[in-house]
Amino acid sequence: MDNKYFYEGSSGPWELVIGLEVHAQVTAQSKLFSGAAAAFGAEPNTQVSFVDAGMPGMLPVINEVCVRQAVKTGFGLNAEINLVSVFDRKNYFYADLPAGYQISQFTRPIVGKGYLDIELEDGTTRRIGITRLHLEQDAGKSIHDQHPDKSYIDLNRAGVALMEIVSEPDIRSAEEAAAYVRKLRAIVRCLGTCDGNMDQGSMRVDVNVSVRKAGASFGTRAEIKNVNSIKFLAQAIHYEAERQVALLEEGQEIVQETRLFDSSRGTTRPMRNKEQAHDYRYFPDPDLPPLVLEAEWVEEIRKTLPELPDAKKTRFMKDYELSAYDAAVLVSEMETASYFEEALKCLDPLTPKTAKLLANWLIGEVFGALNRENKALEACPISPAHLSGLITEIQKEVISGKIAKEVFSLMWETGKEAEILIKEHGLQQVSDDGAIIAIIDKVLAENGSMVEEYRGGKEKLFGFFVGQVMKAMAGKANPELVNTLLKQRLDS
Ligand code: ADP
Ligand code: MG
Repeated sequence: MDNKYFYEGSSGPWELVIGLEVHAQVTAQSKLFSGAAAAFGAEPNTQVSFVDAGMPGMLPVINEVCVRQAVKTGFGLNAEINLVSVFDRKNYFYADLPAGYQISQFTRPIVGKGYLDIELEDGTTRRIGITRLHLEQDAGKSIHDQHPDKSYIDLNRAGVALMEIVSEPDIRSAEEAAAYVRKLRAIVRCLGTCDGNMDQGSMRVDVNVSVRKAGASFGTRAEIKNVNSIKFLAQAIHYEAERQVALLEEGQEIVQETRLFDSSRGTTRPMRNKEQAHDYRYFPDPDLPPLVLEAEWVEEIRKTLPELPDAKKTRFMKDYELSAYDAAVLVSEMETASYFEEALKCLDPLTPKTAKLLANWLIGEVFGALNRENKALEACPISPAHLSGLITEIQKEVISGKIAKEVFSLMWETGKEAEILIKEHGLQQVSDDGAIIAIIDKVLAENGSMVEEYRGGKEKLFGFFVGQVMKAMAGKANPELVNTLLKQRLDS
């Protein structure tokens, strides 16, 4: 195994072992077992049914949409769909859990084993096992920072459907953990089963981390709860690895516990001792019969699946001869893939060469400019059609690659099309032999002694002449033509 997977301690290398439990909020109008709205951002306690409020005697009724979403996601994770699954009560006492239990799935989840493939920066791919996906209710929210001596409770989120997606402990680095979450997010967004908005809490990650010496069996893990950004995920893993390695190297033991990530410090701290499953007193919810799915219904769902990121990546590589890395970048976010595909439609001509050029401009220039201005692709001032227009101008040699950067800046500022801007600013590349020869002759006449030196064998000077000609023509001369014509003139 590659060294990047090892964490250096004073006693030598340690291997990181990571497993992730991702809570993904199901995209649905209403909650898992009630008709109350599931939308984010409403006035507190305006989306609460009697079921969500834990009123005695209320009966949960499963929301078919949520089941369908879980099945879809299961397919997206190449996983087994279990035709029979069971809802259990997981007992807790939390102020924001009025029923005193969460309805979840324990021994028989709706989705079983699967996997997803992650792409790493060095171009390699790794397969991470998925242990299971189960459906469960979210809890409400306790709000402690709005009153000096009171806590408030908002039950809007209580009962909203979550998919808990559990990975095998196959992840070996912070980079892989980040790639896993990004890939999972791309898949659920593509499927429309979760919006993946980590900042709104629609996707939260519990990170299980342990360390071991190469070849040893797994060490004791700590679980870091509710990490809500990819940046924090990497920070939490690095901190945890350092903490555990330091303890072990001092001869101490790791306690299995649940820890909280403190994003302002980049550290983790203990929250509670890790519960064992038996602490929750799981038992099948007597209000809910086992969930039985018909094979044909499940098959119908499979047929409605959109093209998933991996398939899209393979297609981009095959049809447009893109590298694995470029293709992976283009499919990593739905918005990027749609932008690219929209732009492809406008490319004239559409060939592997122009598609590759388009991909380079999107990944390089567009992303670069967006980053500089801290903008998302949706706010890009250059539309997909306009970016293709620019590529077409380069392809037709109306402008050189160098002038294209200037045109790009103008497009960014004005939102206008490349073709129009090139005309407005007179940026067309000069490919007229006569015009170029006239300038060449002028440059050679002005630099007579250097021409002699060149002819006397100082060939390095060629670049100087090219530079002078380009300068005299404000960078607009066709560079290939300048080279050819200049050679002819100098050698004649
Ligand atoms: P629980 O339900 O109590 O959290 P699980 O056995 O379901 O425990 O595991 C939860 C997560 O912890 C999974 O993602 C799994 O891959 C991961 N995991 C299990 N053992 C280890 C370990 N030794 N080191 C790191 N992660 C682990
Ligand atoms: Mg857990």
